[in-house]
Amino acid sequence: MEVDTRQIPEEGLILTEEFNPKTLDLGTEMIKFLSPLKARADISKSYNAVGVSLSLNALVSFDCSRCLNEARVSLDKQVELNFAIDKLDPLILLDPVIREEIILDYPIKPLCKDDCKGLCLKCGGNLNEGGCHCGST
Ligand SMILES: [Zn+2]
Ligand SMILES: [Zn+2]
Repeated sequence: MEVDTRQIPEEGLILTEEFNPKTLDLGTEMIKFLSPLKARADISKSYNAVGVSLSLNALVSFDCSRCLNEARVSLDKQVELNFAIDKLDPLILLDPVIREEIILDYPIKPLCKDDCKGLCLKCGGNLNEGGCHCGST
């Protein structure tokens, strides 16, 4: 996604793009993308700056860090950015910013739900599913 600062009309501009997560190198061992990354940029221009209001959305899956079950979550992010207009270099490439912003939002210890009960320490049964086999809980 590229913004040409010479071609932003008075009333602003909206750009949308769907990124293949592979081309942005977004997947990690923990996070898998189930959908393209959708990006929408509302662009406005003032005398010497460009404002970009960026909306990002993607559906991802990960393994819950407590019970190890697969969980899905919709990543949604809204970012406000400002760029100074550089007459010598009028193009603003948003891809690296988009990549960085979405990676910053990855959960560090993802849970399938806030109150995930995890696994029984003794038998490894999934306590969310009442799956403890040893009766220690
Ligand atoms: Zn869980
Ligand atoms: Zn148990």
